[in-house]
Amino acid sequence: MFRLHANDPLSSDAMELLQNSGLFKITAEHLDKDQLIKKIDDIEFLVVRSATKVTADVLNAGKNLKVVGRAGTGLDNIDVKTARELGIKVYNTPGANAISVAELTLGLLLSLVRHIPRGTQGLKDGKWEKKALKGHEIFGKKIGIIGFGAIGQEVAKRAKAFGMEVIIYDPFVKETELPVKLVNDLGELLEVADVVTLHLPLTESTKHIIGENEFAKMKDGVIIINAARGGIVDEQALYDALVSGKVLGAALDVFEVEPPMDELRRKLLGLDNVIATPHIGASTYEGQKRVGIEMAKKLIEVARE
Ligand code: NAD
Repeated sequence: MFRLHANDPLSSDAMELLQNSGLFKITAEHLDKDQLIKKIDDIEFLVVRSATKVTADVLNAGKNLKVVGRAGTGLDNIDVKTARELGIKVYNTPGANAISVAELTLGLLLSLVRHIPRGTQGLKDGKWEKKALKGHEIFGKKIGIIGFGAIGQEVAKRAKAFGMEVIIYDPFVKETELPVKLVNDLGELLEVADVVTLHLPLTESTKHIIGENEFAKMKDGVIIINAARGGIVDEQALYDALVSGKVLGAALDVFEVEPPMDELRRKLLGLDNVIATPHIGASTYEGQKRVGIEMAKKLIEVARE
């Protein structure tokens, strides 16, 4: 039997699959970094979502560690390079939460352009702000999608259903059957998009890929949606562009610092033209069930090899 520790919660269906396989002795509890470093020597399989940071210290302490399972997509919380050097396999569940994140992305866009959060808060506060809350349609507008993987494609389909023109920048995608325009240069997308939405991974090369120079290239009054990773956008540059009016509004599910309690993020969240959610893109019952089951099946397959 392999010892498996789930340091972030997995769906109950996934836990049941793992238990019923008879392959694992399972512990499930969130341990902080120091506790995890003590525990990890005792386990072969570690399962995490996005909350646990699987750093080089954690991996180096895992003398018996064989597999890290990331229930979800982004691998930026795992030091994949060190894992590879140590011969520890890393698995994620690509695509399993794509619909959840795509639905939130469209939800954020509509909430922003129709002032839904402010309208709700106003009514709760006893205010009838009908005149102040005139919004925009998204019909006929151009949405620029940066990163055309599982989530970007689901966003494109939904944006088309709303009558938007879709422009894609993804250096690794050369063709698609979807009715979208692929461009080879990020600048080409930035110059024409009314809405820019990010669906690429955070890596060393994509950190702050949207910064001061990129905002300068965008149309005046552009809308920014980030439901990918905070570090992809330079949030100081975003703050400046929101204050200057270059960016009409931003909807953010992710932040470079999470929870976003430092001075810059408090300032950003304090702006009237920013709406935000606390990294809930993948947090749906359906998405988590799909992710959990896919992860459990993968771990069972690996344990049987
Ligand atoms: P994916 O791997 O299917 O797609 C990512 C795409 O980005 C790929 O097509 C890749 O070619 C492209 N890409 C890589 N570098 C690029 C660059 N420099 N410019 C443009 N495109 C580039 O991943 P996915 O499932 O679509 O997820 C995308 C990202 O969304 C994840 O990496 C993760 O960070 C984020 N995410 C966020 C949440 C959330 O809760 N908000 C949930 C899941 C995923």
